[in-house]
Amino acid sequence: MVESDSVLGGAVSTVERWPGVRVDRGSSAHVIIRHSGIVEELELERFGLRYVDCDPWGFAPAPVPGDDGSDGRPLVFSVDLDATCASIAAACGDADAAAYRRFVEVWGPRSAAVVRAFGDRPSPARLARHLWPIGSRRPRTPGGEIAVDFLGSGDALLDRWFSSERLKAALAWFGAQSGPPMSEPGTAAMVGWVALLHDVPPGHPVGGSGGLTQALAARLAADGGRVTLGDGAARLLVDGPAGARRVTGVQTTSGRRITAPVVVAACHVLATRALAGDDAPPALADADPPLGNGFGLVLRAQTNALPAYPGVGEEALQGLQLLCTDRAQLARAHGDWLAGEVPREPVPLAMSFSASDPTLAPAGQHVVTVWGQWYPYALADGSDWETLAEPAARQLIAAVDRYAPGFADSVQRLYVQTPLRLEQELSLLRGNVMHVEMSLASMFGFRPTPALSGHRVPGLDGLYLTGASTHPGGGVSGNSGRTAARVVLADRRPAARLRAEVGHRLRALRR
Ligand SMILES: Cc1cc2nc3c(=O)[nH]c(=O)nc-3n(C[C@H](O)[C@H](O)[C@H](O)COP(=O)(O)OP(=O)(O)OC[C@H]3O[C@@H](n4cnc5c(N)ncnc54)[C@H](O)[C@@H]3O)c2cc1C
Repeated sequence: MVESDSVLGGAVSTVERWPGVRVDRGSSAHVIIRHSGIVEELELERFGLRYVDCDPWGFAPAPVPGDDGSDGRPLVFSVDLDATCASIAAACGDADAAAYRRFVEVWGPRSAAVVRAFGDRPSPARLARHLWPIGSRRPRTPGGEIAVDFLGSGDALLDRWFSSERLKAALAWFGAQSGPPMSEPGTAAMVGWVALLHDVPPGHPVGGSGGLTQALAARLAADGGRVTLGDGAARLLVDGPAGARRVTGVQTTSGRRITAPVVVAACHVLATRALAGDDAPPALADADPPLGNGFGLVLRAQTNALPAYPGVGEEALQGLQLLCTDRAQLARAHGDWLAGEVPREPVPLAMSFSASDPTLAPAGQHVVTVWGQWYPYALADGSDWETLAEPAARQLIAAVDRYAPGFADSVQRLYVQTPLRLEQELSLLRGNVMHVEMSLASMFGFRPTPALSGHRVPGLDGLYLTGASTHPGGGVSGNSGRTAARVVLADRRPAARLRAEVGHRLRALRR
Protein backbone atom coordinates (compact mmCIF):
# COMPACT_ATOMS: atom_id res chain seq x y z
CA MET A 1 0.00 0.00 0.00
CA VAL A 2 1.45 3.33 -0.99
CA GLU A 3 0.28 6.49 0.76
CA SER A 4 1.38 9.92 -0.41
CA ASP A 5 1.00 11.51 3.03
CA SER A 6 3.60 11.10 5.76
CA VAL A 7 0.75 10.29 8.17
CA LEU A 8 -1.20 7.04 7.84
CA GLY A 9 -4.97 6.98 7.55
CA GLY A 10 -6.17 10.06 5.63
CA ALA A 11 -9.27 11.37 7.38
CA VAL A 12 -8.98 8.64 10.02
CA SER A 13 -5.75 9.72 11.69
CA THR A 14 -4.53 11.33 14.87
CA VAL A 15 -1.37 13.36 15.48
CA GLU A 16 0.33 14.89 18.50
CA ARG A 17 -0.72 18.42 17.62
CA TRP A 18 0.72 19.94 20.82
CA PRO A 19 3.01 18.31 23.40
CA GLY A 20 1.10 15.44 24.98
CA VAL A 21 -2.11 16.35 23.14
CA ARG A 22 -3.44 13.90 20.57
CA VAL A 23 -5.75 15.50 18.04
CA ASP A 24 -7.69 13.91 15.19
CA ARG A 25 -7.06 15.26 11.70
CA GLY A 26 -10.43 14.17 10.31
CA SER A 27 -13.13 11.96 11.82
CA SER A 28 -13.59 11.42 15.54
CA ALA A 29 -16.86 9.52 16.05
CA HIS A 30 -17.04 6.12 14.36
CA VAL A 31 -20.60 5.21 13.53
CA ILE A 32 -21.04 3.19 10.33
CA ILE A 33 -18.07 0.82 10.70
CA ARG A 34 -19.37 -0.33 14.07
CA HIS A 35 -22.41 -1.77 12.30
CA SER A 36 -20.46 -3.32 9.42
CA GLY A 37 -18.93 -6.35 11.16
CA ILE A 38 -15.53 -5.41 9.72
CA VAL A 39 -13.86 -4.77 13.08
CA GLU A 40 -14.79 -8.30 14.13
CA GLU A 41 -14.01 -9.95 10.77
CA LEU A 42 -10.50 -8.52 10.76
CA GLU A 43 -10.11 -9.13 14.50
CA LEU A 44 -8.88 -5.59 14.90
CA GLU A 45 -9.02 -5.79 18.68
CA ARG A 46 -6.16 -8.29 18.45
CA PHE A 47 -4.25 -5.60 16.55
CA GLY A 48 -4.66 -2.91 19.15
CA LEU A 49 -8.06 -1.32 18.39
CA ARG A 50 -10.10 -0.54 21.46
CA TYR A 51 -13.31 1.43 21.22
CA VAL A 52 -14.84 3.50 23.96
CA ASP A 53 -18.61 3.47 23.52
CA CYS A 54 -20.27 6.86 23.40
CA ASP A 55 -23.02 6.28 25.93
CA PRO A 56 -24.91 8.56 26.13
CA TRP A 57 -24.34 8.91 22.38
CA GLY A 58 -25.93 12.32 22.07
CA PHE A 59 -27.07 15.29 24.00
CA ALA A 60 -28.99 18.40 22.97
CA PRO A 61 -29.26 21.36 25.28
CA ALA A 62 -32.38 23.24 26.13
CA PRO A 63 -32.79 26.51 24.27
CA VAL A 64 -30.80 29.27 25.90
CA PRO A 65 -33.08 30.80 28.61
CA GLY A 66 -35.17 33.51 27.11
CA ASP A 67 -35.16 31.95 23.64
CA ASP A 68 -38.41 30.07 24.12
CA GLY A 69 -39.22 30.10 27.82
CA SER A 70 -38.29 26.42 28.10
CA ASP A 71 -37.62 24.94 31.52
CA GLY A 72 -34.06 24.10 30.56
CA ARG A 73 -34.06 20.30 30.65
CA PRO A 74 -31.53 18.78 28.25
CA LEU A 75 -32.30 15.90 25.93
CA VAL A 76 -30.01 12.95 26.53
CA PHE A 77 -29.87 10.03 24.09
CA SER A 78 -28.51 6.90 25.75
CA VAL A 79 -28.14 3.38 24.42
CA ASP A 80 -30.81 2.47 26.95
CA LEU A 81 -34.09 3.25 25.18
CA ASP A 82 -36.02 3.57 28.46
CA ALA A 83 -33.57 6.20 29.74
CA THR A 84 -33.78 8.06 26.43
CA CYS A 85 -37.56 8.03 26.47
CA ALA A 86 -37.56 9.27 30.07
CA SER A 87 -35.33 12.16 29.01
CA ILE A 88 -37.62 12.95 26.05
CA ALA A 89 -40.68 12.77 28.29
CA ALA A 90 -39.15 15.21 30.77
CA ALA A 91 -38.01 17.67 28.11
CA CYS A 92 -40.65 17.32 25.40
CA GLY A 93 -43.62 15.48 26.88
CA ASP A 94 -45.00 11.94 27.09
CA ALA A 95 -46.46 11.86 23.58
CA ASP A 96 -43.09 12.43 21.91
CA ALA A 97 -41.44 9.93 24.25
CA ALA A 98 -43.95 7.27 23.19
CA ALA A 99 -43.53 8.27 19.53
CA TYR A 100 -39.76 7.93 19.83
CA ARG A 101 -40.08 4.42 21.25
CA ARG A 102 -42.28 3.43 18.30
CA PHE A 103 -39.95 5.22 15.85
CA VAL A 104 -37.01 3.08 17.03
CA GLU A 105 -39.17 -0.04 16.66
CA VAL A 106 -40.16 0.83 13.08
CA TRP A 107 -36.86 2.24 11.86
CA GLY A 108 -34.61 -0.34 13.55
CA PRO A 109 -35.27 -3.03 10.90
CA ARG A 110 -35.32 -0.44 8.12
CA SER A 111 -31.92 0.93 9.11
CA ALA A 112 -30.59 -2.61 9.51
CA ALA A 113 -31.61 -3.15 5.87
CA VAL A 114 -29.69 0.01 4.91
CA VAL A 115 -26.66 -1.38 6.76
CA ARG A 116 -26.91 -4.58 4.69
CA ALA A 117 -27.21 -2.56 1.47
CA PHE A 118 -24.17 -0.49 2.50
CA GLY A 119 -22.19 -3.68 2.91
CA ASP A 120 -22.98 -5.03 -0.55
CA ARG A 121 -22.52 -4.00 -4.17
CA PRO A 122 -25.06 -1.40 -5.18
CA SER A 123 -26.84 -3.14 -8.08
CA PRO A 124 -30.62 -2.55 -8.23
CA ALA A 125 -31.30 -6.27 -7.66
CA ARG A 126 -29.11 -6.44 -4.57
CA LEU A 127 -30.58 -3.22 -3.24
CA ALA A 128 -34.10 -4.55 -3.69
CA ARG A 129 -33.13 -7.82 -2.02
CA HIS A 130 -31.85 -6.00 1.06
CA LEU A 131 -34.76 -3.59 1.34
CA TRP A 132 -37.52 -6.02 0.39
CA PRO A 133 -37.87 -7.83 3.75
CA ILE A 134 -38.91 -4.56 5.41
CA GLY A 135 -42.30 -4.63 3.72
CA SER A 136 -42.85 -8.34 4.27
CA ARG A 137 -42.91 -8.08 8.05
CA ARG A 138 -46.20 -8.56 9.93
CA PRO A 139 -48.16 -6.37 10.11
CA ARG A 140 -47.28 -5.80 6.50
CA THR A 141 -46.29 -2.27 5.56
CA PRO A 142 -47.46 -1.32 2.07
CA GLY A 143 -44.48 -0.84 -0.28
CA GLY A 144 -45.76 2.61 -1.29
CA GLU A 145 -45.56 3.83 2.28
CA ILE A 146 -42.03 2.56 2.65
CA ALA A 147 -41.01 4.22 -0.61
CA VAL A 148 -42.52 7.54 0.53
CA ASP A 149 -40.58 7.27 3.78
CA PHE A 150 -37.25 6.48 2.13
CA LEU A 151 -37.59 8.94 -0.75
CA GLY A 152 -38.94 11.72 1.44
CA SER A 153 -36.96 14.23 3.41
CA GLY A 154 -35.74 13.82 6.97
CA ASP A 155 -37.74 16.90 7.93
CA ALA A 156 -40.98 15.41 6.57
CA LEU A 157 -40.31 12.21 8.48
CA LEU A 158 -39.67 14.11 11.72
CA ASP A 159 -42.82 16.17 11.23
CA ARG A 160 -44.88 13.00 10.77
CA TRP A 161 -43.57 11.43 13.96
CA PHE A 162 -42.95 14.14 16.53
CA SER A 163 -44.34 17.45 17.74
CA SER A 164 -41.47 18.91 19.77
CA GLU A 165 -39.24 21.17 17.71
CA ARG A 166 -36.34 20.56 20.08
CA LEU A 167 -36.46 16.83 19.51
CA LYS A 168 -36.79 17.26 15.75
CA ALA A 169 -33.85 19.69 15.73
CA ALA A 170 -31.56 17.30 17.62
CA LEU A 171 -32.40 14.39 15.32
CA ALA A 172 -32.16 16.55 12.18
CA TRP A 173 -28.72 17.80 13.22
CA PHE A 174 -27.57 14.21 13.70
CA GLY A 175 -29.03 13.25 10.31
CA ALA A 176 -27.36 16.19 8.57
CA GLN A 177 -23.87 14.98 9.47
CA SER A 178 -23.36 13.36 6.09
CA GLY A 179 -23.92 16.70 4.37
CA PRO A 180 -27.34 17.18 2.81
CA PRO A 181 -29.81 19.19 4.87
CA MET A 182 -32.79 17.24 6.14
CA SER A 183 -35.04 19.25 3.84
CA GLU A 184 -33.58 17.36 0.86
CA PRO A 185 -35.42 14.38 -0.65
CA GLY A 186 -33.99 10.98 0.24
CA THR A 187 -32.57 12.05 3.60
CA ALA A 188 -35.07 10.25 5.84
CA ALA A 189 -32.78 7.24 6.27
CA MET A 190 -30.09 9.50 7.75
CA VAL A 191 -32.51 10.30 10.58
CA GLY A 192 -33.71 6.70 10.78
CA TRP A 193 -30.13 5.60 11.53
CA VAL A 194 -30.57 6.78 15.15
CA ALA A 195 -32.66 3.66 15.78
CA LEU A 196 -29.46 1.59 15.47
CA LEU A 197 -27.65 3.63 18.09
CA HIS A 198 -29.78 2.04 20.78
CA ASP A 199 -28.07 -1.19 19.83
CA VAL A 200 -24.47 -0.14 18.99
CA PRO A 201 -23.59 3.49 19.75
CA PRO A 202 -20.90 5.56 18.07
CA GLY A 203 -17.45 4.87 19.45
CA HIS A 204 -14.06 6.47 19.47
CA PRO A 205 -10.83 4.53 19.48
CA VAL A 206 -8.63 4.91 22.54
CA GLY A 207 -5.81 7.27 21.56
CA GLY A 208 -7.83 8.92 18.82
CA SER A 209 -9.53 8.13 15.53
CA GLY A 210 -6.24 6.93 14.00
CA GLY A 211 -6.35 3.91 16.32
CA LEU A 212 -8.50 2.26 13.65
CA THR A 213 -6.09 2.78 10.75
CA GLN A 214 -3.13 1.83 12.96
CA ALA A 215 -4.88 -1.46 13.75
CA LEU A 216 -5.64 -2.01 10.05
CA ALA A 217 -1.97 -1.45 9.22
CA ALA A 218 -0.93 -3.90 11.93
CA ARG A 219 -3.37 -6.45 10.55
CA LEU A 220 -2.03 -5.89 7.03
CA ALA A 221 1.56 -6.33 8.24
CA ALA A 222 0.59 -9.57 9.98
CA ASP A 223 -0.83 -10.78 6.65
CA GLY A 224 2.43 -9.93 4.86
CA GLY A 225 1.43 -6.55 3.45
CA ARG A 226 3.57 -3.44 3.56
CA VAL A 227 2.66 0.22 3.89
CA THR A 228 4.93 2.94 2.50
CA LEU A 229 4.26 6.47 3.67
CA GLY A 230 5.28 9.67 1.91
CA ASP A 231 5.73 8.03 -1.48
CA GLY A 232 2.34 7.87 -3.16
CA ALA A 233 1.34 6.87 -6.65
CA ALA A 234 2.44 9.36 -9.30
CA ARG A 235 0.97 7.49 -12.27
CA LEU A 236 -0.58 4.21 -13.22
CA LEU A 237 1.48 1.85 -15.34
CA VAL A 238 -0.64 0.74 -18.27
CA ASP A 239 0.00 -1.77 -21.01
CA GLY A 240 -1.77 -3.23 -24.04
CA PRO A 241 -3.23 -1.96 -27.31
CA ALA A 242 -5.90 0.73 -27.49
CA GLY A 243 -9.27 -0.70 -26.50
CA ALA A 244 -7.67 -3.45 -24.40
CA ARG A 245 -5.59 -1.46 -21.95
CA ARG A 246 -4.63 -3.03 -18.68
CA VAL A 247 -3.08 -1.65 -15.50
CA THR A 248 0.21 -3.31 -14.63
CA GLY A 249 1.17 -1.35 -11.52
CA VAL A 250 2.07 2.13 -10.32
CA GLN A 251 5.03 4.42 -10.41
CA THR A 252 5.49 6.33 -7.18
CA THR A 253 6.57 9.94 -6.74
CA SER A 254 10.11 8.83 -5.92
CA GLY A 255 10.22 6.92 -9.22
CA ARG A 256 9.75 3.41 -7.81
CA ARG A 257 7.90 1.09 -10.17
CA ILE A 258 5.68 -1.41 -8.41
CA THR A 259 4.23 -4.02 -10.73
CA ALA A 260 0.97 -5.66 -9.78
CA PRO A 261 -1.80 -7.52 -11.58
CA VAL A 262 -4.38 -5.38 -9.79
CA VAL A 263 -4.35 -1.80 -8.51
CA VAL A 264 -7.01 -0.73 -6.04
CA ALA A 265 -7.23 3.07 -5.92
CA ALA A 266 -8.52 4.24 -2.54
CA CYS A 267 -7.91 7.95 -3.13
CA HIS A 268 -10.40 10.46 -4.50
CA VAL A 269 -11.82 9.30 -7.83
CA LEU A 270 -10.55 12.47 -9.53
CA ALA A 271 -7.07 11.79 -8.14
CA THR A 272 -7.31 8.33 -9.73
CA ARG A 273 -8.33 9.98 -12.99
CA ALA A 274 -5.20 12.15 -12.82
CA LEU A 275 -3.03 9.06 -12.14
CA ALA A 276 -4.42 7.39 -15.28
CA GLY A 277 -3.68 10.49 -17.40
CA ASP A 278 -4.17 9.85 -21.11
CA ASP A 279 -4.85 6.20 -20.37
CA ALA A 280 -8.11 7.04 -18.60
CA PRO A 281 -10.93 5.36 -20.55
CA PRO A 282 -14.05 7.49 -21.23
CA ALA A 283 -15.83 6.22 -18.08
CA LEU A 284 -13.03 7.68 -15.96
CA ALA A 285 -11.91 10.57 -18.16
CA ASP A 286 -15.46 11.92 -18.37
CA ALA A 287 -16.34 11.32 -14.70
CA ASP A 288 -17.73 14.49 -13.22
CA PRO A 289 -19.27 13.63 -9.86
CA PRO A 290 -20.67 16.49 -7.78
CA LEU A 291 -18.04 17.65 -5.28
CA GLY A 292 -20.13 20.46 -3.79
CA ASN A 293 -18.84 23.73 -2.46
CA GLY A 294 -17.24 23.00 0.90
CA PHE A 295 -18.73 21.15 3.81
CA GLY A 296 -17.50 21.87 7.32
CA LEU A 297 -15.15 24.01 9.34
CA VAL A 298 -13.48 22.28 12.26
CA LEU A 299 -11.94 23.64 15.42
CA ARG A 300 -9.54 21.53 17.42
CA ALA A 301 -9.08 23.10 20.82
CA GLN A 302 -6.88 22.26 23.75
CA THR A 303 -8.84 23.42 26.77
CA ASN A 304 -8.28 23.48 30.51
CA ALA A 305 -11.84 22.28 31.20
CA LEU A 306 -14.62 20.29 29.61
CA PRO A 307 -17.52 22.32 28.21
CA ALA A 308 -19.94 22.86 31.10
CA TYR A 309 -23.59 22.87 30.03
CA PRO A 310 -25.81 24.05 32.88
CA GLY A 311 -27.83 21.20 34.34
CA VAL A 312 -25.97 18.53 32.39
CA GLY A 313 -23.84 15.84 33.98
CA GLU A 314 -20.34 15.05 32.72
CA GLU A 315 -21.49 11.66 31.46
CA ALA A 316 -23.39 13.45 28.67
CA LEU A 317 -20.07 14.77 27.37
CA GLN A 318 -19.06 11.34 26.09
CA GLY A 319 -21.15 11.60 22.98
CA LEU A 320 -22.15 14.07 20.30
CA GLN A 321 -23.08 17.46 21.69
CA LEU A 322 -25.82 18.41 19.24
CA LEU A 323 -26.01 22.15 19.87
CA CYS A 324 -29.16 22.84 17.93
CA THR A 325 -32.59 23.55 19.37
CA ASP A 326 -34.60 24.52 16.30
CA ARG A 327 -34.37 23.38 12.69
CA ALA A 328 -34.65 27.02 11.62
CA GLN A 329 -31.04 27.37 12.80
CA LEU A 330 -29.99 24.61 10.39
CA ALA A 331 -32.04 26.12 7.58
CA ARG A 332 -30.39 29.54 8.06
CA ALA A 333 -26.86 28.08 8.12
CA HIS A 334 -27.58 26.03 5.01
CA GLY A 335 -29.19 29.03 3.31
CA ASP A 336 -26.06 31.14 3.89
CA TRP A 337 -23.93 28.32 2.45
CA LEU A 338 -26.17 28.17 -0.63
CA ALA A 339 -25.55 31.88 -1.09
CA GLY A 340 -21.79 31.27 -0.84
CA GLU A 341 -21.47 32.90 2.57
CA VAL A 342 -20.10 31.87 5.94
CA PRO A 343 -23.08 31.03 8.17
CA ARG A 344 -24.00 34.08 10.22
CA GLU A 345 -25.22 31.88 13.07
CA PRO A 346 -23.24 28.63 12.84
CA VAL A 347 -24.64 25.48 14.39
CA PRO A 348 -21.98 23.57 16.33
CA LEU A 349 -21.55 19.90 17.07
CA ALA A 350 -19.00 19.51 19.85
CA MET A 351 -17.12 16.40 20.95
CA SER A 352 -14.87 16.10 23.96
CA PHE A 353 -13.64 12.53 24.00
CA SER A 354 -10.89 13.32 26.50
CA ALA A 355 -13.80 13.12 28.98
CA SER A 356 -13.61 9.33 28.61
CA ASP A 357 -10.08 8.84 27.23
CA PRO A 358 -7.29 10.21 29.42
CA THR A 359 -4.64 9.27 26.82
CA LEU A 360 -5.66 12.24 24.66
CA ALA A 361 -4.38 15.07 26.86
CA PRO A 362 -2.34 15.62 30.04
CA ALA A 363 -4.22 15.66 33.35
CA GLY A 364 -6.37 18.75 33.68
CA GLN A 365 -6.36 19.38 29.93
CA HIS A 366 -8.90 18.38 27.32
CA VAL A 367 -9.31 18.12 23.56
CA VAL A 368 -12.54 19.57 22.21
CA THR A 369 -13.50 19.26 18.56
CA VAL A 370 -16.14 21.65 17.29
CA TRP A 371 -17.66 20.86 13.91
CA GLY A 372 -19.53 23.61 12.12
CA GLN A 373 -21.36 22.66 8.96
CA TRP A 374 -22.07 24.38 5.68
CA TYR A 375 -19.03 26.53 5.14
CA PRO A 376 -18.43 27.34 1.46
CA TYR A 377 -15.10 26.43 -0.11
CA ALA A 378 -15.45 29.22 -2.67
CA LEU A 379 -17.01 32.36 -1.24
CA ALA A 380 -19.46 34.34 -3.34
CA ASP A 381 -17.77 37.67 -2.64
CA GLY A 382 -14.33 36.27 -3.47
CA SER A 383 -12.99 36.58 0.09
CA ASP A 384 -10.26 34.16 1.03
CA TRP A 385 -10.00 31.69 3.87
CA GLU A 386 -6.69 33.06 5.11
CA THR A 387 -8.58 36.17 6.20
CA LEU A 388 -11.82 34.48 7.22
CA ALA A 389 -10.45 31.59 9.27
CA GLU A 390 -9.95 33.48 12.51
CA PRO A 391 -13.25 35.38 12.68
CA ALA A 392 -15.14 32.26 11.61
CA ALA A 393 -13.40 30.26 14.36
CA ARG A 394 -14.20 32.91 16.98
CA GLN A 395 -17.83 32.92 15.91
CA LEU A 396 -18.05 29.13 16.22
CA ILE A 397 -16.45 29.20 19.67
CA ALA A 398 -18.99 31.84 20.69
CA ALA A 399 -21.78 29.59 19.44
CA VAL A 400 -20.62 26.83 21.83
CA ASP A 401 -20.10 29.36 24.61
CA ARG A 402 -23.76 30.31 24.37
CA TYR A 403 -24.72 26.86 25.61
CA ALA A 404 -21.63 26.21 27.74
CA PRO A 405 -20.68 29.54 29.33
CA GLY A 406 -16.95 29.70 30.01
CA PHE A 407 -16.00 27.50 27.06
CA ALA A 408 -14.33 30.37 25.18
CA ASP A 409 -12.16 31.19 28.21
CA SER A 410 -11.12 27.55 28.57
CA VAL A 411 -9.46 27.44 25.13
CA GLN A 412 -5.68 27.36 25.45
CA ARG A 413 -4.65 26.45 21.92
CA LEU A 414 -6.60 26.29 18.71
CA TYR A 415 -6.12 24.61 15.34
CA VAL A 416 -8.58 25.61 12.63
CA GLN A 417 -9.41 23.49 9.59
CA THR A 418 -11.25 25.53 6.98
CA PRO A 419 -12.58 23.85 3.83
CA LEU A 420 -9.42 25.03 2.04
CA ARG A 421 -7.19 23.70 4.82
CA LEU A 422 -8.95 20.32 4.64
CA GLU A 423 -8.16 20.19 0.94
CA GLN A 424 -4.51 21.10 1.52
CA GLU A 425 -4.00 18.86 4.52
CA LEU A 426 -6.01 15.78 3.59
CA SER A 427 -6.36 15.98 -0.23
CA LEU A 428 -10.12 16.40 0.22
CA LEU A 429 -11.05 18.21 -2.97
CA ARG A 430 -13.10 21.35 -2.34
CA GLY A 431 -13.03 20.42 1.35
CA ASN A 432 -15.63 17.70 0.83
CA VAL A 433 -15.00 15.24 3.67
CA MET A 434 -17.16 12.68 1.84
CA HIS A 435 -15.20 13.12 -1.46
CA VAL A 436 -18.45 13.35 -3.44
CA GLU A 437 -21.83 14.80 -2.39
CA MET A 438 -23.99 12.40 -0.36
CA SER A 439 -27.25 13.40 -2.06
CA LEU A 440 -29.60 10.74 -3.39
CA ALA A 441 -28.35 11.20 -6.97
CA SER A 442 -24.78 10.29 -5.95
CA MET A 443 -25.53 7.28 -3.78
CA PHE A 444 -25.76 3.54 -4.41
CA GLY A 445 -25.53 2.76 -8.14
CA PHE A 446 -24.89 6.42 -8.96
CA ARG A 447 -21.67 6.73 -6.93
CA PRO A 448 -19.31 8.21 -7.99
CA THR A 449 -21.01 7.98 -11.41
CA PRO A 450 -23.28 5.26 -12.82
CA ALA A 451 -20.46 4.02 -15.11
CA LEU A 452 -17.98 3.64 -12.24
CA SER A 453 -20.36 2.37 -9.59
CA GLY A 454 -19.27 -1.29 -9.76
CA HIS A 455 -15.80 -0.63 -8.25
CA ARG A 456 -14.32 -1.51 -11.68
CA VAL A 457 -13.24 0.92 -14.38
CA PRO A 458 -14.74 -0.18 -17.70
CA GLY A 459 -12.07 0.06 -20.39
CA LEU A 460 -9.10 -0.30 -18.03
CA ASP A 461 -8.72 -3.85 -16.77
CA GLY A 462 -7.05 -4.42 -13.42
CA LEU A 463 -8.00 -1.05 -11.96
CA TYR A 464 -10.49 -1.00 -9.07
CA LEU A 465 -11.95 1.90 -7.12
CA THR A 466 -12.75 2.11 -3.45
CA GLY A 467 -12.99 4.67 -0.64
CA ALA A 468 -15.46 7.43 0.06
CA SER A 469 -15.82 8.25 -3.65
CA THR A 470 -17.56 4.90 -4.11
CA HIS A 471 -20.63 3.19 -2.62
CA PRO A 472 -21.70 3.65 0.16
CA GLY A 473 -19.79 6.92 0.42
CA GLY A 474 -17.99 8.81 3.15
CA GLY A 475 -17.93 8.43 6.87
CA VAL A 476 -15.77 5.95 8.74
CA SER A 477 -17.22 2.89 7.11
CA GLY A 478 -14.85 0.30 5.64
CA ASN A 479 -17.73 -1.03 3.54
CA SER A 480 -16.41 0.12 0.18
CA GLY A 481 -12.98 -1.41 0.87
CA ARG A 482 -14.47 -4.77 1.77
CA THR A 483 -16.77 -4.76 -1.25
CA ALA A 484 -13.95 -3.78 -3.62
CA ALA A 485 -11.82 -6.58 -2.16
CA ARG A 486 -14.65 -9.04 -2.80
CA VAL A 487 -14.97 -7.82 -6.41
CA VAL A 488 -11.21 -8.24 -6.95
CA LEU A 489 -11.24 -11.73 -5.44
CA ALA A 490 -14.25 -12.76 -7.55
CA ASP A 491 -12.53 -11.47 -10.69
CA ARG A 492 -9.40 -13.43 -9.82
CA ARG A 493 -11.11 -16.78 -9.52
CA PRO A 494 -9.78 -19.08 -12.29
CA ALA A 495 -13.04 -19.12 -14.30
CA ALA A 496 -13.48 -15.34 -14.06
CA ARG A 497 -9.85 -14.80 -15.03
CA LEU A 498 -10.21 -17.05 -18.04
CA ARG A 499 -13.35 -15.18 -19.15
CA ALA A 500 -11.62 -11.83 -18.64
CA GLU A 501 -8.51 -12.98 -20.53
CA VAL A 502 -10.56 -14.20 -23.50
CA GLY A 503 -12.53 -10.94 -23.53
CA HIS A 504 -9.34 -8.92 -23.28
CA ARG A 505 -7.70 -10.76 -26.20
CA LEU A 506 -10.82 -10.47 -28.33
CA ARG A 507 -10.92 -6.72 -27.75
CA ALA A 508 -7.22 -6.51 -28.65
CA LEU A 509 -7.80 -8.53 -31.85
CA ARG A 510 -10.76 -6.37 -32.88
CA ARG A 511 -8.41 -3.40 -32.79
C1 LIG B 1 -12.64 17.03 9.60
C2 LIG B 1 -13.38 15.76 9.34
C3 LIG B 1 -14.26 15.25 10.29
C4 LIG B 1 -14.94 14.06 10.05
N1 LIG B 1 -15.72 13.54 11.04
C5 LIG B 1 -16.26 12.31 10.87
C6 LIG B 1 -16.84 11.64 11.95
O1 LIG B 1 -16.80 12.09 13.10
N2 LIG B 1 -17.42 10.42 11.71
C7 LIG B 1 -17.39 9.85 10.47
O2 LIG B 1 -17.91 8.74 10.30
N3 LIG B 1 -16.80 10.46 9.42
C8 LIG B 1 -16.20 11.66 9.60
N4 LIG B 1 -15.52 12.24 8.57
C9 LIG B 1 -15.55 11.62 7.25
C10 LIG B 1 -14.63 10.42 7.11
O3 LIG B 1 -13.49 10.58 7.91
C11 LIG B 1 -14.20 10.25 5.66
O4 LIG B 1 -15.31 10.28 4.81
C12 LIG B 1 -13.50 8.91 5.44
O5 LIG B 1 -12.52 8.71 6.42
C13 LIG B 1 -12.90 8.85 4.06
O6 LIG B 1 -12.03 7.73 4.04
P1 LIG B 1 -11.28 7.28 2.72
O7 LIG B 1 -10.24 6.31 3.15
O8 LIG B 1 -12.25 6.82 1.71
O9 LIG B 1 -10.64 8.58 2.11
P2 LIG B 1 -9.49 9.52 2.64
O10 LIG B 1 -9.51 9.62 4.10
O11 LIG B 1 -9.65 10.78 1.84
O12 LIG B 1 -8.16 8.78 2.25
C14 LIG B 1 -7.60 8.82 0.97
C15 LIG B 1 -6.12 8.64 1.14
O13 LIG B 1 -5.52 8.59 -0.14
C16 LIG B 1 -4.28 9.26 -0.04
N5 LIG B 1 -3.84 9.61 -1.40
C17 LIG B 1 -4.33 10.58 -2.20
N6 LIG B 1 -3.67 10.57 -3.38
C18 LIG B 1 -2.78 9.55 -3.31
C19 LIG B 1 -1.82 9.02 -4.22
N7 LIG B 1 -1.63 9.54 -5.45
N8 LIG B 1 -1.07 7.97 -3.83
C20 LIG B 1 -1.23 7.42 -2.58
N9 LIG B 1 -2.12 7.89 -1.69
C21 LIG B 1 -2.89 8.93 -2.06
C22 LIG B 1 -4.58 10.45 0.83
O14 LIG B 1 -3.40 11.01 1.35
C23 LIG B 1 -5.45 9.79 1.89
O15 LIG B 1 -4.69 9.28 2.95
C24 LIG B 1 -14.77 13.40 8.81
C25 LIG B 1 -13.85 13.88 7.87
C26 LIG B 1 -13.15 15.04 8.14
C27 LIG B 1 -12.13 15.52 7.15
